[in-house]
Amino acid sequence: MQILSLKELKEHMELSEDESSFSEENSLPVLISDYVERLLNHEEIRRQFVPTKFENEDTLGFEDPQNEKNHSDLKRVIHRYENRVAIITSERCFSYCRHCFRRRLTGRNLEVISKKEIDEIAEYLKNHLEIKEALLTGGDLFTLSDERLEYLLGSFKNARKDIIFRLCTRALFTNPERFTDTLFKVLEKNSSGAPYYLMTQFNSAIEITEEAESILERFSSLRVPIMNQSVLLRDVNDSLEHQRELSEKLLRNRVKPYYLFQGDLVKGTRHLRVPLSRTLELEEEMRKNLSGLEMPEVMIDLPEGGGKLILSKCRFCKKEDGTWIFKSLDGRSIEYPEDL
Ligand SMILES: *Cc1c(COP(=O)(O)O)cnc(C)c1O
Ligand code: SF4
Repeated sequence: MQILSLKELKEHMELSEDESSFSEENSLPVLISDYVERLLNHEEIRRQFVPTKFENEDTLGFEDPQNEKNHSDLKRVIHRYENRVAIITSERCFSYCRHCFRRRLTGRNLEVISKKEIDEIAEYLKNHLEIKEALLTGGDLFTLSDERLEYLLGSFKNARKDIIFRLCTRALFTNPERFTDTLFKVLEKNSSGAPYYLMTQFNSAIEITEEAESILERFSSLRVPIMNQSVLLRDVNDSLEHQRELSEKLLRNRVKPYYLFQGDLVKGTRHLRVPLSRTLELEEEMRKNLSGLEMPEVMIDLPEGGGKLILSKCRFCKKEDGTWIFKSLDGRSIEYPEDL
C-alpha cells in the first residue's frame, strides 16, 4: 500500500513516540511507495523514509547550503561547474527520503516542467558549448510521463548530441514498475550521440531488490554505464560492514560505487548525519578493506556553495628538500622524490 501522509502512516503501522510526534507542517511531505513500505521493518529503510520529531527540532543548518539558487538565470538549471550542469527536471519523487538535500524543492512545487521550460533549457545548452555533461535530476527524472520525458530527451539531444546526459533516479528501488517497455523505447529512440549514464541512489544493500536487479540488467544490456551515489546516514549505513555489503552487491550488478556523500548541512537532517571525524575514520577503514572497484569516493559538498571535495585523510602531508613524505595506511612515513 502506498502511504501519502502521516495520518495514513499512523493508521497503517505502529509508530514509536519519536515518529508519531513528527509534525508535517512546513516539512518535506510524507510519501512512501508500496515497494518501500514492504521493507519498513528494516531499520535501514525505516530511518530513511519514516519521519521523526527530530526533523522539526533541528533548527540548525541551512535551507540551501550549496547556494544552488544563485547559479544560473534559468530556474531549473544549476550551472555551478563550468563544464557540467544539473537540471531540475521534476520536484517529485516516488518516495521522499528524510535526508533529502534538496528538500527546499522536493515535494513542494508539483508543477510539471513545461514544454516552454524545456525549450529554454535546450537553447541554453546550445548556447553554452562549454557544457559537456548534464545531470537530469530533481526530484526524480522518471516521475515525468513518457510523453514529457520523450519531449525533454528529444529536445536536449536535438540541441546537443555530444553532451553526456546522466539519468539520475532513485526509482529502481522506490518504484520499479515505472521501468516499462514503453519507457525503454523512449530512451532507445533518443539515444543517438553521446551515451547516457544511469546514476542510481542505493544507500544499503537491501534496496537492491530483485526488481531493481532486473532493471539494472536491462540498462546494462543497452550498454548504459551505471554509477551509484549514496549518502552516509547515521544508523543506516555508517559501518564498514554496511558499505562492504552495498559495494559487493552493486558490483555484482555491474554498478560502480561512485560517490558516498557526507550529509549536507540541510535543516531537518541533523539526526541523520554522521560526525565528520567518524566519516574520516570510516573512509580509512574502507580504504584498507575494500578493493578499488568497491571503493566510492567519499565526498563533501561544502556549504556556502564551496563545491564538492574528496574527503580523505591527508596522506602526502609535506614536502621537504624536494622529497614528498607520505603516510601509508599502516602508519609508516614513506618518501617519494619530486623528480628522480
Ligand atoms: C554534483 C554536481 C555536479 C556533478 O559533479 P561530478 O563531481 O562531476 O559528479 C554537477 N553540477 C552540480 C550543480 C552538482 O551539484
Ligand atoms: S530521491 Fe533524491 S530528490 Fe527524491 S527525496 Fe530522495 S534524495 Fe530527495
